[in-house]
Amino acid sequence: MLIVNPATEEILADMELADAAEVDRAVERARRAYESWRDVAPGDRARLLRRFADLVDQHREELALLELTNSGHPIGNARWEAGAVRDVLHFYAGAPERNHGKQIPVPGGVDITFQEPLGVVGVIVPWNFPMLIMSWGVAPALAAGNTVIVKPAEWTPLTALRLAELALAAGLPEGVLQVLPGAGEVAGAHLVEHPGVAKIVFTGSTEVGKQIAAKAAAQVKRITLELGGKNANIVFADSDLEKAAKTAPYAVFDNSGQDCCARSRILVQAEVYDEFLERLVPAVRNVKVGDPLDESTEMGPLISAEHLDRVRGFIDGPPYLQGDCPQGKGFWFPPTVLTSAVTDRTFTEEIFGPVVSVVPFADEAEAVRIANDTRYGLSGSIWTRDVGRALRVARAVEAGALSVNSHSSVRHWTPFGGFKESGLGRELGPDALSAFTETKNVFISTE
Ligand code: NAD
Repeated sequence: MLIVNPATEEILADMELADAAEVDRAVERARRAYESWRDVAPGDRARLLRRFADLVDQHREELALLELTNSGHPIGNARWEAGAVRDVLHFYAGAPERNHGKQIPVPGGVDITFQEPLGVVGVIVPWNFPMLIMSWGVAPALAAGNTVIVKPAEWTPLTALRLAELALAAGLPEGVLQVLPGAGEVAGAHLVEHPGVAKIVFTGSTEVGKQIAAKAAAQVKRITLELGGKNANIVFADSDLEKAAKTAPYAVFDNSGQDCCARSRILVQAEVYDEFLERLVPAVRNVKVGDPLDESTEMGPLISAEHLDRVRGFIDGPPYLQGDCPQGKGFWFPPTVLTSAVTDRTFTEEIFGPVVSVVPFADEAEAVRIANDTRYGLSGSIWTRDVGRALRVARAVEAGALSVNSHSSVRHWTPFGGFKESGLGRELGPDALSAFTETKNVFISTE
């Protein structure tokens, strides 16, 4: 498969894709590696993860440039992403030595619990943040004593392969972390169906997530699913309107809108709706779209020609506002603002491109109703100076990762994941470790 730079259409590599037999061999290697990895002393496992994190840090610029070339991320964002991978590895390097069970008072003996690793974990990754999303599954899985096979997205295997090399260089034993470029329906599907794989961590579309959940259910296989989003950015009349409008473009156009947390529905209280749009216009026009290597670039291209066609297909009338983007080579689409009706396809479906819809609402109850009128429930923002309202609305919105007077959703210290069709389970934060372990209870009679 040809790997292409989405900003230039230059061919970067011709990647061989793994078939089912190769997946079988990788699972065999991972199972063998598990036999010794699970028994590596926690302190040694922690040291290896820290060394891996340090190598990521030393190679940060190289990883950022590779991500930029393969995914079109602007250089600033790509550097941030490589730094975030390092931080996730450091965070979970603290886990092996704290991954302990309990002693529970029971009559007639002593009762203790152990947090046992699961075995081989398959991590299936999308193309939008290839190395970061990979690290969210890999770091806690390894910390808990599992071995891992990563299946990167077809279009973006390059940073995943480089991370696997760095893991080996850091001293992780052969077979503990493998990266297998392959097609979703072949290598991905085979990983899900393989009885030697104990758990699947999947990040991607809701449609594929549902297929994976159904297949995994047949083997009672453990799963974590991070799926789509159509997130609301709710702006109340009493908010800092200037700040809300200035930052709203970055909440949806970052990574060219190819972000499950993109706030692609802006809900504005009716009395400040016109004023908000007036402030939004210059903010959108100021988004700098272009060469990802340019330090001042804020938005790059879309990932592929197919995805560009898909995003274009959503726009069937004149938009309220459209910014600029380069012409010619590359998969470019400009920042686009629509004033959709809440029933329009552009307001209800995940576009996964730089397109945002703005609608008015009358009061708090209507804002919550519109925000929740979706099959998704991943993230969202609430802009208000009223603390009581901020908390009321945050409790009422059906989503897993909300922010008040801020657009950011993800911090590796805190849990991240979706309500409803946005996913199952949580990644990140200290609790993610429990998604990579089984609790075992042992009773010892003293009678
Ligand atoms: P996708 O579902 O097409 O593919 C994701 C991964 O699954 C790829 O590696 C692909 O090869 C693999 N895959 C495809 N079919 C498969 C199958 N039948 N069995 C096993 N694996 C299969 O998604 P995408 O287009 O790469 O990513 C975009 C989607 O990901 C969006 O919907 C976005 O919202 C979602 N996403 C969610 C999060 C989150 O944390 N919730 C983060 C990023 C992206």
